[in-house]
Amino acid sequence: MAARKVVLIEGDGIGPEITKAVLRVLDAAGVEIDWTRCDAGISALDKGEEVLPAATIAAIKEHKVALKGPCTTPVGEGFSSVNVQLRKTFNLYAAVRPVRNLPGVETRYKNVDLIIIRENTEGLYSGVENEITPGVVMSMKVATEKACLRIARWAFRFATQRQRKSITVFHKANIMKLTDGLFLRVADLIHQRDYPNIDFRSAIIDAGCMRLVQDPSQFDILLLENLYGDVVSDLCAGFVGGLGVVPGANYGEEEAIFEAVHGSAPDIAGKNIANPLALLMSAVMLLNYLAENDKTSIYAQAAEKIRAAYDQTLLDGAKTRDLGGELNTEEFADAVIARL
Ligand code: ATP
Repeated sequence: MAARKVVLIEGDGIGPEITKAVLRVLDAAGVEIDWTRCDAGISALDKGEEVLPAATIAAIKEHKVALKGPCTTPVGEGFSSVNVQLRKTFNLYAAVRPVRNLPGVETRYKNVDLIIIRENTEGLYSGVENEITPGVVMSMKVATEKACLRIARWAFRFATQRQRKSITVFHKANIMKLTDGLFLRVADLIHQRDYPNIDFRSAIIDAGCMRLVQDPSQFDILLLENLYGDVVSDLCAGFVGGLGVVPGANYGEEEAIFEAVHGSAPDIAGKNIANPLALLMSAVMLLNYLAENDKTSIYAQAAEKIRAAYDQTLLDGAKTRDLGGELNTEEFADAVIARL
């Protein structure tokens, strides 16, 4: 069988170093993927290309699947987020972020097994802003019934396929009665009409966050609009060891891009100390996606082998500094490879 072609974007900041470490682990696990390397972000600008080059878009259109390192987004000025541009270009409307306790990574929280499903295309996170007059700026929160229905259906279908028990929507529909009201109403409709067997709950986001930090184990799937999903993902990462251990996937109808929840971490870039695990876990999600639910597929087997190896690595106490260990990026990759 010919190796599957997958686009690889190293990204900015810690992107190149964690990507290198992840590729070494995949190679050592015998994963056969024909990578098409593409640029995006500051690294593309540095080469005189657009921030999201046409060649990168064309490659993702052709191969349908990408593994992506983080891309830096300038704060308060400059170009708009490459991550947002990619999600919009390919209509990657469903972001999925599993947040689970890992063996050997002690935190204040136990039995955390959350899946965050984030609507990825609308809301304030779209960054549709303008200056009405000097000193007065505005940001538009757009919600469409089409996108709300699409993510609600996706979430309930996902919950059914994965045999998850409940979906909780966090919202602020008491204040944003139209936009968050629509998101909540549509999710409730899909639940009642098509998925009555899945437990459906809702919480106003402020109170929901309070309950979440008291005991995250009382939640299963969280369904959130775009900006809430962004914020709550990082909050939940804190339950299980931080941004170094939470992977993610962005799914559309045809394309899928796998990337860690964290950003480009410029403060630690180039120091070989970043944790490559979140990107490695994202690569495992990618392999399972390529396997298309066939557990006998070589991709599913490689995914399981890598997962078992990083679990054992952590159990043995071999960790990067963000998890209280002493290993650097490369040494952590070596430790995983030694346990494959
Ligand atoms: P960006 O602008 O690209 O989002 P950022 O620094 O604002 O970058 P993150 O990259 O998400 O946001 O990182 C926040 C902090 O978390 C970083 O300063 C870094 O110390 C830490 N961090 C993020 N990812 C990792 C990682 N993989 N390993 C270790 N620490 C990380």
